[in-house]
Formats: sequence, C-alpha cells, structure tokens
Amino acid sequence: MYVLGIETSCDETGVAIYHPQHGLISHFLYSQTDMHSEYGGVVPELASRDHIRKLVPLIQQTLADSRLLPAQIGGIAYTAGPGLMGALLVGAATARSLAWAWQIPAVAVHHMEGHLLAPMLEAHPPQFPFVALLISGGHTLLVRVDGIGRYQLLGESLDDAAGEAFDKTAKLLGLGYPGGPRLSALAEQGQPTWVFPRPMTDRPGLDFSFSGLKTFALNTFNACGKTQQDKADIAAAFQTAVSETLVIKCRRALQQTGLNSLVVAGGVSANKQIRHALGEMASKENAELYFPRPEFCTDNGAMIAYAGCQRLLAGHHQDLRIFARPRWPIDGLDACP
Ligand code: ATP
Ligand code: MG
Ligand code: FE
Repeated sequence: MYVLGIETSCDETGVAIYHPQHGLISHFLYSQTDMHSEYGGVVPELASRDHIRKLVPLIQQTLADSRLLPAQIGGIAYTAGPGLMGALLVGAATARSLAWAWQIPAVAVHHMEGHLLAPMLEAHPPQFPFVALLISGGHTLLVRVDGIGRYQLLGESLDDAAGEAFDKTAKLLGLGYPGGPRLSALAEQGQPTWVFPRPMTDRPGLDFSFSGLKTFALNTFNACGKTQQDKADIAAAFQTAVSETLVIKCRRALQQTGLNSLVVAGGVSANKQIRHALGEMASKENAELYFPRPEFCTDNGAMIAYAGCQRLLAGHHQDLRIFARPRWPIDGLDACP
C-alpha cells in the first residue's frame, strides 16, 4: 500500500509517499522560515495561509516524482496535532478531502509519534522496546516505547522545550530566527568558558527545565563585553549545558528502564554536539543509539507517511470528520497490535 503523508503542523509543509516494502518513494518539503524570520518567530496566520498556497502543488510534485497515479495511493496520513490549529486544519482538511475523493482511508497522525518513528526510515532501524528522547521546538519528552502507540511518558520539560531554549537564547544573542542551527554554528567558534547550570540533574527523576538556562545566558551576556567572541563562548557554554543535561537524563532513563536502545529525534537531534555527546554516553552504557538522518530530525512528510502507514496496516483510520488537536498527549494514543 502506497501511503501519502502530509505534515502542516507548524512552519513546514511536508509531503511524502511511503510503501511498507519499497520504503520511502518520494518526499518534498517547503520551509516557511524565510517568511517568518522577518518577525522573529512563527506567525500562525501567515503559516496557515502559506500551507494553503504550497500544499496542493507539493502533493502534485510528490505524485509526479513518484510516477504513481492517484489510483495507486492506498491511504492518506496527516498530522492531526499537536501544533498550530490553523496550520493543522489545512493539512487535515486537504488530506480528508483527497481521501474522500479517492475513496481511500485517512488516518490522523500524532506529530510527536512521527518524530519518534523517523529513525525507522533509516537502514538500521531500532527494535522495540526502546527509550526515546524527543527534543523539538515544542517538546522535550523521555518516553518508554514498547511498540507503535505503546508510549509511557518517563519525563518532560516543566517549562521551555529544548528547541525553544535554543531559539530564545539565540534571539537574545541577536542571532535572529531560526535560532537553534545558528546558535549551534556560533558555538563551534567558542569555548564553554562560563559554566552554566545543568538544570534538575542534582535530584532524582527524568523531568527537564530549560528556561533557567536562557535567563543565565541573558545575565551572562549583560555582564560581559558583548564581543563576537563573548557571544560564541556563551553559545558554547549554553549548548554544552543542554547537551550534558540530556546525557545525564538519558543515561538515567536507560538505567531505570533496564533497556539498551535509545532513539533520539526531533529538530534538536540534528545538533552535532548533542549527537556526539549522546554517542559517547551510549557506548559507555553498551547501548545502541539511533537518530533520523539530519533532514528528518526537523519536521517532514516522510515521518508522517511512515507512522500513518503503520497505523493503516494495523487497521486504524478515522471516519469523515476532520481531526485537528492543537494539544494532544502522546501517552493516550491507540496501540497497534
Ligand atoms: P514540535 O515538534 O515540538 O511540535 P517543531 O515541529 O517546531 O516543534 P521541530 O521541527 O522538530 O520542532 O524542530 C525545530 C526546532 O529544532 C527548533 O527549535 C530549532 O531551533 C531546533 N533545531 C534545529 N536544528 C538544530 C540544531 N542544529 N541545534 C539545535 N537546535 C536545532
Ligand atoms: Mg519548523
Ligand atoms: Fe516537529
């Protein structure tokens, strides 16, 4: 069954076609970041309008590239949440309408399940059960994964998500939007001369808190000479603190669960220092570590096509209603048998 996947939860329009035996057939992404950068962040109404402009042409482009006819598509998967309501509705309404016109099932996919399963698109996919660290613009979650839809939340951020902390710290250093990749590039020119806190690592538990790091960066910035080198050093100190905090919590999650596979996904998992630090920890713990390829760390249609395909194969799909849930906990999803 060829499954068309549609992602429009935030500021990326993503479309892909996945087949359980033939793998990923085709995928395209249109990122709105240039449009939003003028405003220093995502403007929800502009995001919805741009998804309306880009989605249908992107579906046409993906179909043309795949050389498939609409009649060969067996199901449609769309991101139903969590995300921006207007943006979600564009993908959901388009997906649901196409599925109705083509007389095929449509399945509502949880965006974070998409991120979580993105490493399954790689040559050496992880096997269940595993621990997943999801680090993205809106979430920081540690999850025990026993199968598709079998998610037990082990810990989460009590305030800012990891990506949000990157973006806010980048903004106060004057790096503009999108901040995470820019801060990461600047950190490569700096040294972590300042020592930032490793929040919530001195007490038991698997929750995170990243908002204090941004304040620490602000105070450090205001107290220093504000040279380019100072900025790079603050970026390096911030990134090292986030990276070591994630390492400490992931090690704890592996030890606590007794599992020996760790999946790391979501936009921040593209970060080189974080990938490297987690790699060192995993080898010391004799654990296997899995990431998506960098382009599938951030939002994309491929992960939604993959996740939706697994659910469709398990017989999951919804009726003619258009599902969009801006808030949607990951631990209440239906499990696949
Ligand atoms: P969510 O998935 O929680 O709904 P989102 O979809 O906006 O949020 P993603 O697209 O998964 O998030 O990731 C975007 C986030 O990843 C942004 O906060 C961005 O700054 C961050 N990010 C991307 N690349 C890097 C990097 N190399 N280093 C650090 N952060 C990064
Ligand atoms: Mg984005
Ligand atoms: Fe995302």
